[in-house]
Amino acid sequence: MPIAGKPTRARTSAPKAKTAAAGIAVADRLRASPPRRRGERICGIRSEASASGGDGAAGDWRASAGDGAPAFSEEDRAQVRASLLSWYDGCHRQLPWRRNLHSKLEGTRGEAASADLDPQAFAYMVWVSEVMLQQTQVVNVVKYFKRWMEKWPTLEALAAASLEEVNELWAGLGYYRRAAFLLKGAKHLVDELGGAFPETANELKRIPGIGPYTSAAVASIAFGECAAAVDGNVIRVVSRLRALSGDPKKLTATHAVLAGELLDKQRPGDFNQAMMELGATICKPTNPLCDSCPVSAQCSALARVRSHLAGGGRPDKPNAPRVTDFPSATEKLAKREEVVAMCVLKMVPREGQRGRYMLLKRPASGLLAGLWEFPTIPIEGGDTTCTHRQSKMDEYLQAGCGTPLGKPPKKLKVLRRHDVGTAVHLFSHIRMTMHVEMLVVEGGQEAAEAAEKAGVRWVAEGEMGSFGLTTMVRKAFKLAEDRKREGTDMMQYLKGNKRQAR
Ligand code: SF4
Repeated sequence: MPIAGKPTRARTSAPKAKTAAAGIAVADRLRASPPRRRGERICGIRSEASASGGDGAAGDWRASAGDGAPAFSEEDRAQVRASLLSWYDGCHRQLPWRRNLHSKLEGTRGEAASADLDPQAFAYMVWVSEVMLQQTQVVNVVKYFKRWMEKWPTLEALAAASLEEVNELWAGLGYYRRAAFLLKGAKHLVDELGGAFPETANELKRIPGIGPYTSAAVASIAFGECAAAVDGNVIRVVSRLRALSGDPKKLTATHAVLAGELLDKQRPGDFNQAMMELGATICKPTNPLCDSCPVSAQCSALARVRSHLAGGGRPDKPNAPRVTDFPSATEKLAKREEVVAMCVLKMVPREGQRGRYMLLKRPASGLLAGLWEFPTIPIEGGDTTCTHRQSKMDEYLQAGCGTPLGKPPKKLKVLRRHDVGTAVHLFSHIRMTMHVEMLVVEGGQEAAEAAEKAGVRWVAEGEMGSFGLTTMVRKAFKLAEDRKREGTDMMQYLKGNKRQAR
């Protein structure tokens, strides 16, 4: 069935619901309200039981914030809850921060987070995992989460950590402000709240760095509060279930109300996770697996497609309805272009010996604040020639790289200097082009110690892989390593040719 999307426009993932709290509050009022009559408008949400059948009934399936988002009928809510939870219990992913006491999977009940785990300890696991999950996919989060819990198994242990330690462990996940907020939040919980998480979303939101989504996730999963957690996955599922068009960024309250309507009151934490799991594994941004979807009978987007086909419509027409019409695509904002020169500087005691790499700490505020990098300078004016970059880099190094290092000692000898390539790194708002060079200097312990006193860090060749480097710095280092390997291969090739010639 041609229900997959037509990927003609760049689509950004839907934003986290910034106003989920407001939406949840509205949802709470809806729950407390007397039963609605069909078509009645409540809080700007029109109840349209007729649009929820999902059986291809006639009518305009498209709804928008402008003409009122159709609420779920009581029957649909009950069916979605039952179908989704049954599916989740039968095939949820097993994750170290997850526990499902209703799991039907053999031997997995409570396997990850223990069933008798103290709710406070469980809340800590949920909190850390949810913040990490906002950064990257589950498969990447698992290894970061395990390392995190080994290093800081409790809230108190995290609160005693330094920002530098936290950044090092977080390195590679990106958006380091989240890591800093985890630390800040832990310190607040320990210093101000006696080391205990509040148990409601409203109270959790007062902790630095905890927003509407995370507060609802922690409150529902760890403490069983009926709070709908609305992330990008949930926005996508709800948009398709209700065929809700319009800019998702302007519909956050509507999404939160609809997610709140569906929420299972007996198992809110499991239901929230099931919605996210459905969005991540079945109702994917492109190529959703509608044939395997447990809530396809309640899906208005799918009903549109079926209705179109039942009426003799061609599936391959450009304007044929597709489930991926929802949520509406949002235009990507153009990224700012930046160009930098980066110098992978290695100091060796003698030519041919193993050395150490120079790393400098970035300023305490701004992009990648407080993280380590190779000497890096901006290149402005468009001149990216090797001569220009090297001369600018020389000025920077001679001036002590912005540290109290002072001029490098005269006895430092340059052994090699050459470009190793160019790489692009994307931040949320910046497209950064890095021109990377390799510089190998010969210097003794004395020079290294003087630099260390000025805040420079020297990392041994063998330790670069385990050092907490940002993805951007890793890309530059890989270029240098690849070039070194190519050089070694070439030397061996030439040596082999020489032997054969003899
Ligand atoms: S039927 Fe398809 S579009 Fe609808 S919720 Fe399921 S996977 Fe998503």
